[in-house]
Amino acid sequence: MAFDLITIPCLKDNYAYVLRDHASGEVAVIDVPEAAPIKAALAQHGWTLTQVWLTHHHWDHVDGLADLLAEHPAKVVGASADAHRLPDLDIAVAEGDRVALGSLEAEILDVSGHTVGHIAFYVPGAAACFTADSLMALGCGRLFEGSPAQMWGSMQKLMALPAATTICSGHEYTASNAKFALTVDPENAALISRAKDIETARAKGIPTVPTKLSTELATNPFLRPADPGIRATLGMPTASDADVFAEIRKRKDTF
Ligand code: ZN
Ligand code: FE
Repeated sequence: MAFDLITIPCLKDNYAYVLRDHASGEVAVIDVPEAAPIKAALAQHGWTLTQVWLTHHHWDHVDGLADLLAEHPAKVVGASADAHRLPDLDIAVAEGDRVALGSLEAEILDVSGHTVGHIAFYVPGAAACFTADSLMALGCGRLFEGSPAQMWGSMQKLMALPAATTICSGHEYTASNAKFALTVDPENAALISRAKDIETARAKGIPTVPTKLSTELATNPFLRPADPGIRATLGMPTASDADVFAEIRKRKDTF
């Protein structure tokens, strides 16, 4: 592999990720819930941080930034649409923009829904996408700002990535997501089996992220509104995918 990708548990149930390009030695951290665990990981590997990629403005994704930058000066990349409510950006980006990390390159996707202005960083050279609170392991982010139709549009963008893409999401919510998923897709054998694996992993304190897009396509109800089994469970055999997605999101809000 021409890169390293490490997962860093932060706060109670957040994740940051560190991506390092071997060719250049450039290192990016994706989201900064808190500084200490990220500093510790950089020190452990002897890596020099060069970039910070922010997915959205929520405090649990940016609060450690000032503390981290004080020790590790780096260029901060975030959404131009959210520049007014993000920490100071060195590089403001929008959908379609590209950000180089040495020999790797991130493509920016607008994945609004959880917030309007939430972006994902898709890195084809690492076959990874940093989705934070848009697409999550067995779930998707709560709709604080966007509409269900907007979030469904964001899900469709992510569904179009290569199925082998590693999905790096922002929280350890997978066990409760699995319980909900089983209520709308109870006969999905892949989901039943994944739910057991998640229980086992969590009992050992092992993170359930990152995951693969192929796994999400097979088990994540938020990517499966077209599925006849889910539609039967919801009593929505002929509704649009967007309407089925909206119903799944609504049920999850009160689960
Ligand atoms: Zn958030
Ligand atoms: Fe979050």
